[in-house]
Amino acid sequence: MELFVATGNAHKLLELAPALPAQTLKRPEDAGLRGFDVEEDGASFMDNAMKKALTLYRLIGKPSLADDSGLAVRALGGAPGVLSARYGSPDGGETKLDAAGRNRFLLARMAEEEDRSCAFVCCLVLVLSEDRFFAVQETCPGQLLRESRGAGGFGYDPLVWLPELGKTVAELGVDEKNRVSHRGRACARLNGLIAELDRRP
Ligand code: IMP
Repeated sequence: MELFVATGNAHKLLELAPALPAQTLKRPEDAGLRGFDVEEDGASFMDNAMKKALTLYRLIGKPSLADDSGLAVRALGGAPGVLSARYGSPDGGETKLDAAGRNRFLLARMAEEEDRSCAFVCCLVLVLSEDRFFAVQETCPGQLLRESRGAGGFGYDPLVWLPELGKTVAELGVDEKNRVSHRGRACARLNGLIAELDRRP
């Protein structure tokens, strides 16, 4: 299926493409829309993904896919959560810390915590029409380390230990990350949904 990805960020397509091999991913620009941008002000990953997908659908009238993701830490009540990209920002997101700065901020907040449970979360929303949409949300559970480990991946990857694999997310190969990651798992569910739609639209 041809899916228009509700993002202004070209990197997002590169992240999603390997996990959605049967789909053709397009940018808003491919439908003639320049400068697509939506404020991510929702209280949940699903709120944000739904807002982005529906906004794009209403502008172009074609199947629109949005993703919203982040890290949820149990001892912090689910933070950084929807604020994952802006976590620790001194001015509410105007100036963002870089990934290393966000990681240091998170480790400092968790310094006294024994419960290290956390999970990457990814919500995908596919809007097919004003009245028809699908939402899937998946997780990649792990344990928050006390220092970074591994050089791959991005963001919070070097802090999240996967006990059953004996590695952090930053130590996974690209294919392995796609298999076990929150985004890979959510994309696998979406692929299944779309395959079913193809059989019985
Ligand atoms: P977005 O929804 O892709 O914009 O992700 C929001 C933020 O969540 C990113 O800036 C990262 O800080 C964090 N994040 C999302 N997915 C991952 C991941 O797979 N690894 C590490 N950090 C992630």
